[in-house]
Amino acid sequence: MNWKKSRLLFRQALDLIPGGVNSPVRAFKAVGGNPLFIEQAKGSKIYDVDGNEYIDYILSWGPMILGHSHPSVLKALHSAIDKGTSFGAPTPLEVELARRVIDVYPSCEKIRMVNSGTEATLSAIRVARGFTGRDKIVKFEGCYHGHADGLLVKAGSGATTFGVPDSPGVPKSYAKDTLTVPFNDIKAFKSLLRREGKSIACVILEPVVGNIGCVLPKEGFLDALRQETRRYGIVLIFDEVMTGFRVAYGGAQAYYGIRPDMTCLGKVIGGGMPVGAYGGRRDIMSLVAPEGPVYQAGTLSGNPVAMTAGIETLKILAKEETYKKLEKTMRSLEKGLRDAARRAGVRTRFYRAGTMFCTYFTETEVVDYATAKTADTNRFARFFTGMLTRGINIAPSQFEAGFISLSHSEKDIEKTVRAAYEAFKEC
Ligand SMILES: *Cc1c(COP(=O)(O)O)cnc(C)c1O
Repeated sequence: MNWKKSRLLFRQALDLIPGGVNSPVRAFKAVGGNPLFIEQAKGSKIYDVDGNEYIDYILSWGPMILGHSHPSVLKALHSAIDKGTSFGAPTPLEVELARRVIDVYPSCEKIRMVNSGTEATLSAIRVARGFTGRDKIVKFEGCYHGHADGLLVKAGSGATTFGVPDSPGVPKSYAKDTLTVPFNDIKAFKSLLRREGKSIACVILEPVVGNIGCVLPKEGFLDALRQETRRYGIVLIFDEVMTGFRVAYGGAQAYYGIRPDMTCLGKVIGGGMPVGAYGGRRDIMSLVAPEGPVYQAGTLSGNPVAMTAGIETLKILAKEETYKKLEKTMRSLEKGLRDAARRAGVRTRFYRAGTMFCTYFTETEVVDYATAKTADTNRFARFFTGMLTRGINIAPSQFEAGFISLSHSEKDIEKTVRAAYEAFKEC
C-alpha cells in the first residue's frame, strides 16, 4: 500500500495544526505511523488521498450508522442547502428532529439542540446544577463526556489513549467538584453518596463505556444508580452520545430498561453533521433559557442542514428491518473475530453492545478502566497495522469502540475476518 500523499500532507499539517490533526486520536500516535488523509467515502468503504480503499469500522467515530454518503441523506442535504445554510431563527426541521428523538427516548420530555456532544454534556450538567442548587458531580473513571473542563478528570477516549486523563489547564477549583468512582463498582458509589450525596447535583455516565473500548454495565449496576440517585435527589444523566440509536434504537436506556432524568445525544442524531442534544424531564428542562434562568445558547444550534441529515438518518433507523439487519451483520462479525483470534492462538476479550464492539488484547475480564488498561497496547498496535495494510480501517487505539453500519455486507465481513486472522497471527 502506498501512502505517499498522506505522508506529505501530514508533514505539512504538523507545521500548521497541533499534532497535525483537529482531534487527538486521529493522529495514529498510539499505534505509530502516519494518519490517512481521506478523499471520500461511500457505503462501508473509505478512500484515502493515495487512492487506497478500506472497509471502515470507525465510521466517523460512530455517526455514520447508515454507511457513508447514504443516497437518501445526500439527496435531502442537497435540497436543504439550496434553501440556505443558516437562518438563526426557528425552522420546521428542529421541531421534526425534536419530535423524532422524543418519540424514541421517553426520558426526554423536552430537548435542546446543540452542535456537539461536548456541548450537550456541559449544558446538561449546568442545568442539573441549576435544578438542584448543588455543585458537585459524579463521573466514572474512563468515561468520556467531551472536553469541558470539569469533565476532563479521569477521562476516556484520547485522554486514556495518551495517558493524560486529567488534562493540564483544568483549574483545580473545577476539578475538585468532579468526584470519580470506578465503573461497575456499586459499593464505592454507595459509599460516596453516603458521604457526599446531599451536595451532588448529578451523576453522569456512559451506560456502556465506549471511550475505553466497550465496557458493559454489570447486571444491577444501572438499576442501583437509578435507585441511589433518586434517594438523594441527584439528577441521573445518561450520556448516550455514542450509545444513542447505536446500542439499540432507543439507546442503552431502552436496552437496559432504565429511565434517566436527563439524556445527552450526538453522533448518530446528526447523521454526519455537527449535532448534539440534551433532553430530560419536563420540570428540569423548563429551567433552560428562555423558559427558565439557566443560560445556554448557540449561533448555529438547530442548523437546518444539520437537522436535515439527522432527520433523514432517523427516518431510515425507524424502519423495522434496519436494526434486524444491523444485528445480523454484527453477529457474523462477532463470530468471525472471536474464531479468528482463537484459530490464531491469540487470547483476547471481545465485547459488544448492539453495533459497537471492542477486542481487547488481554485475558482479564474487562469491567472498568483499570481492567481495560491491562490490554497489551503493543500487540494492539501490531494488529492495527496488520488490518490497515489489508484494507481494514479500525480505530488507531485499543481504547476506542468499533462500529458497523447498515452498508456493511456479508462480503465485507468475510474479508475483514480473513484479514483479522492474518493480523492476529502477526501479533
Ligand atoms: C463523542 C462523545 C462525546 C463528545 O462528543 P463531541 O461531538 O466529540 O463533542 C461525549 N460523550 C460521549 C459518550 C462520546 O462518545
